[in-house]
Amino acid sequence: MTRSKHNIFRKLKDSDNYILLNPLSKQADILSPELAREYEKGNIADPTEFIEKGYLSDEGEENRRYRNAYLSFIEAREAEEVQVFFVPTYACNFACSYCYQESYDHANDSRNPELTDAFFRWLDTELAGRKKYITVFGGEPLLPSSASRNVLERILTKAADRKLSVAVVTNGYELENYIPLLSSASIREVQVTLDGVGVVHDRRRPLHGGGATFDRIVRGIDAALAAGIPINLRAVVDRENLPHLPELARFAIARGWTGNPLFKTQLGRNYELHTCQIDQKKLYSRISLYEELYALIKENPEFLEFHRPAYSVTKFLFEHGELPDPLFDSCPGTKTEWALDYTGKVYACTATVGKKGEELGTFYPEISRRDEAIEEWEDRDVTSIPECANCNLQLTCGGGCAAVAKNTKGKILSPDCRPTDKLLSMGIPLYFTIPGDK
Ligand code: SF4
Ligand code: SF4
Repeated sequence: MTRSKHNIFRKLKDSDNYILLNPLSKQADILSPELAREYEKGNIADPTEFIEKGYLSDEGEENRRYRNAYLSFIEAREAEEVQVFFVPTYACNFACSYCYQESYDHANDSRNPELTDAFFRWLDTELAGRKKYITVFGGEPLLPSSASRNVLERILTKAADRKLSVAVVTNGYELENYIPLLSSASIREVQVTLDGVGVVHDRRRPLHGGGATFDRIVRGIDAALAAGIPINLRAVVDRENLPHLPELARFAIARGWTGNPLFKTQLGRNYELHTCQIDQKKLYSRISLYEELYALIKENPEFLEFHRPAYSVTKFLFEHGELPDPLFDSCPGTKTEWALDYTGKVYACTATVGKKGEELGTFYPEISRRDEAIEEWEDRDVTSIPECANCNLQLTCGGGCAAVAKNTKGKILSPDCRPTDKLLSMGIPLYFTIPGDK
């Protein structure tokens, strides 16, 4: 019996204790400093429990379990719903300070109804037999023009014909005016972004040409919740606005949003994607963002009422009382996600949509596929990225984001490392009471 190559072992932040976690056997334990020392030395006085829990295992047996878990993962993913993004325009009425689409050409924005019809033809043929839903994305899909409204109406009607639900990603400025139309459809959720309260938000997400947007977005969120439409509130975070997040949390709590089962939140890390950000120093790395959040939550524990950061598998463990299944792939692109835009092109996901050279095919004027490029995306997981083969974090990391990996290393089959051990060392003491710790 040897130590499993999937064990994640790390000292907990602000504690003398350690976490030992094995995502393959789905076990996690807190080790006292004494037991941790025994484990490190490979000299555990009573190894029975370590063997039962898969922390110590026979290599052949573990490889067999790994293969079975991989097959189950692939099978489960085949049955999963596919999220298909549709970008009817890259035009937007906001001028966000960090917008990566700013440089995208939207001069030829087309409102051709044939395009929407072609989008649905692609869904019917390319994703026949798969469970799926549509997310209308942009640019800004809820613009005040009748052209924008007509496109959305057509999408909602055609989705209803196929019994598909629709989500909308919007800046929220026109949301209130769109409530009657959205209320008539099967809306899965509306994702709206608020980066803070009042001027904190307004400075980052002003109207094109200037102008505050916060108050109007808040009215839109209130109206959506009152109409029974689920809201997914997103905050895009960097060093500029993170210190103000507790204020946003208190605002959402006081407004009654967090007590509404239709309300949920997500934090998006502002990061360099394709075009140069003006101020690189503003950006957090993945780990530094979680470190700052850790300090922020310690100071403002009510923040967890507004948002629970994942800290790798910690939040899942806290909410479900067990670990998730092993994560062989954390990138849904081309597997359970696609993104199609108004130019008639098909992309893997929202990170690549509209980016020159990332096209994987077309849906208008006719359907075509770049099979070789698609296969590369489809094949990418921790079993195909060479660097992941001997990494003990692989089943909590999943190989990271293919778009980031390609941007930084020049090829899809390369790693985008997630420091899941460090995340666990912070997440466990945030979500759980550790015996002996304050
Ligand atoms: S490439 Fe990155 S952004 Fe795109 S689906 Fe994969 S993980 Fe998500
Ligand atoms: S992407 Fe990096 S951290 Fe993740 S499994 Fe691969 S080598 Fe490990």
